[in-house]
Amino acid sequence: MDARDLEALKDAIRCIPDYPKPGIQFRDITTLLGNAPMFRLAIDALSHPWSDSRLTHVAGIEARGFILGGAVAQRVGAGFVPIRKKGKLPHETVRVAYSLEYGIDEMEMHRDALQPGERVLLIDDLIATGGTAEAAVKLLRTLGAEIVAACFVIDLPELGGARRLEALGVPVRSLVAFQGH
Ligand code: AMP
Repeated sequence: MDARDLEALKDAIRCIPDYPKPGIQFRDITTLLGNAPMFRLAIDALSHPWSDSRLTHVAGIEARGFILGGAVAQRVGAGFVPIRKKGKLPHETVRVAYSLEYGIDEMEMHRDALQPGERVLLIDDLIATGGTAEAAVKLLRTLGAEIVAACFVIDLPELGGARRLEALGVPVRSLVAFQGH
């Protein structure tokens, strides 16, 4: 992706100040998703590096990771597996707890969603502190999956999430970065 495309992608993401609470700059990708050329550009850029990586699956984190992950899975010829908030999946699950700013939450996958050694790309819209993605990495590893990389449209580098995932041995790739929270 050239510098002009990157700038266009960045411009397609709407910033909502002080949402959901004061001090947070919410990076809203609905404006990008609703813009056909920009949606296509994002999916192309997320998919391109992995065409020869023998991916078996793309795992998307609820909920925006489903939209991006489904499209990337189609593009790279892989299956899609959802990582969901607890209590949503109907079959037997594996579950992991993770910290939010206030309190803890849990996420789940179907226990039979992946077989040991399957090659998975993890996708979400944004990485901030990396807590959500780290929990997803733990779940995928519980199932024995090999995590080829974790990909995001947006990185907030000041919050250190990419470094946190890389410390777990997961390569991280994001398309654009914004300063601040
Ligand atoms: P974290 O666990 O801190 O890396 O937070 C990442 C998750 O929270 C992702 O699923 C994002 O969709 C969401 N998120 C965190 N910060 C923001 C933000 N500033 N704008 C939009 N979404 C965010």
